[in-house]
Amino acid sequence: MSLGILRKVIRALWRIKYYLFKWNNKGGCTVKKKNKNCQSCGMPLKSDENGGGTEANGQRSNIYCSHCYENGSFKLPNITVDGMKERVMDKMVEMKFPKFLANIFTRNIYKLERWKD
Ligand SMILES: [Zn+2]
Repeated sequence: MSLGILRKVIRALWRIKYYLFKWNNKGGCTVKKKNKNCQSCGMPLKSDENGGGTEANGQRSNIYCSHCYENGSFKLPNITVDGMKERVMDKMVEMKFPKFLANIFTRNIYKLERWKD
């Protein structure tokens, strides 16, 4: 592995540190409730530029982000967990995350509330 790649990986790891923390501590008592991840795509709600999705009554959702949820319903109601995985992966690659890291972080999406059944 060349130094350039290594440096890129470290930088990427640093940026997605939050994801790591959240997912490794799922169910643990060290996770602060207010720093939740969207339970549809896994994105940290605090990095949602709109502060979260909206309920039908206009209230902020503290479960889903604005990309997934609007006016009380999902923006993509028919998307499957695999479809969501792909979407998030594309987004991460777009944000210059190395693909293998995007892979690691999207493989836990099926554990989120929306996909539990
Ligand atoms: Zn979302």
